Amino acid sequence: MKRVYLDYAATTPVAPEVQKAMQPYYDRIFGNPMAMHSFGQKARRATEEAREEVADFFGFSAEEIIFTSGATESNNLALRGVIKAVRRNIASGARPERSRGVPVGKFVPHIITTAFEHHCLLDSTKYLDKELMAEVTFIKPTREGLIRPSDVIAAIKPNTVMVSVMYVNNEVGTIAPLSEIAKLVKKERNRTNNLPIYFHSDITQGVNYLPCEMGKMGVDLFSMSAHKIYGPKGVGALGVRKGILIDKIQLGGEQEFNLRAGTHNVPGIVGLGAAIEKIKSYRVTELPSYRVKKLRDYFWKELRKKVKNIRLNGSLEKRVANNLNVSFAGVEGESMLLALDMAGIACSTGSACSSETLAPSHVLLSLGLSHPQAHGSLRFTLGEGNTRADIDYTVRQVERVVEKLRKVSGYKG
Ligand code: PMP
Repeated sequence: MKRVYLDYAATTPVAPEVQKAMQPYYDRIFGNPMAMHSFGQKARRATEEAREEVADFFGFSAEEIIFTSGATESNNLALRGVIKAVRRNIASGARPERSRGVPVGKFVPHIITTAFEHHCLLDSTKYLDKELMAEVTFIKPTREGLIRPSDVIAAIKPNTVMVSVMYVNNEVGTIAPLSEIAKLVKKERNRTNNLPIYFHSDITQGVNYLPCEMGKMGVDLFSMSAHKIYGPKGVGALGVRKGILIDKIQLGGEQEFNLRAGTHNVPGIVGLGAAIEKIKSYRVTELPSYRVKKLRDYFWKELRKKVKNIRLNGSLEKRVANNLNVSFAGVEGESMLLALDMAGIACSTGSACSSETLAPSHVLLSLGLSHPQAHGSLRFTLGEGNTRADIDYTVRQVERVVEKLRKVSGYKG
């Protein structure tokens, strides 16, 4: 049976050159980078080289890159670590003048984020809110899945210390104008000139396809993950600009500039560096995303031709190159996913992390879809391994499965 993988936003295979780069660090160069002997120092050199690679790609300096276990941890550390440090800073009276006129004892930091972030970021903010450590405003995207910078800025209050907006939404693939938001946040920061307002972005889904010079774009903190960019699972990074107030949230060791306790995942870190290197060379030789975007556009054109009563969720123009998120009227997404799986095609009904629950996607609901529309949606995300033949096969199978399921559900369309 033909097998087609269309779930590259959930994870990607590890590229051969990345595997090759990692291999020596499992057996030959296995030392602990915190050890002073030569075994340790060799491993240390490799982690530092990877750090340089990552820093250079994102336009940060090496001391501003913290290796983590992935974007989930990076988002937790960014949100919870900053709020912890800001609160400590204010409580200790270190900068009483910085609470913008709010009595220090009563100061509750304010976070602005969006309603359609990944669960790991949403849950970090909800935790801070529940524990009375911060208050949170969730900005709703437009029906097209876009975040308006003016909505973000209008939500700023005297106690706002953090704005966090994802670069690319992992379900609908829509892109946020990071530079524009960063510029406006900076203006507010300069205007109020006392408390910091940090700008964080979860850029996990943007790294393959979009400009990544976070330094130039004015992003203060960013979260990313290796396994979305043909690197290994269980490793990622948090970029943190120098001078930002942030505390560790996991205790036990002084690794990663004392911001992330725990023995380094050396093969993983080397793999992350190699994945970044791969992307860099790919960008030089090929316009990023060009081939994937052409395939994706072909896929959408053919689907619309062959299957009636479908709609694309999220803007087509302001959308990452590899994503299609489609609602099929009169069809259950889960039934469709299983039927396609039986035909060898892998796609998703939402983010992989929420596939255990049958609750409709919070992302699709935030775009204003009804529950049946949200339930009848599938996400197809393309990647390096896909061909035109994959797309032709998938379109035929989708056409067949939709027709069958609509017959069963009695959908008349
Ligand atoms: N943020 C986004 C936007 C994601 O797509 C994902 C992965 N689904 C994560 C965070 C979590 O990343 P990780 O798997 O590295 O923890």
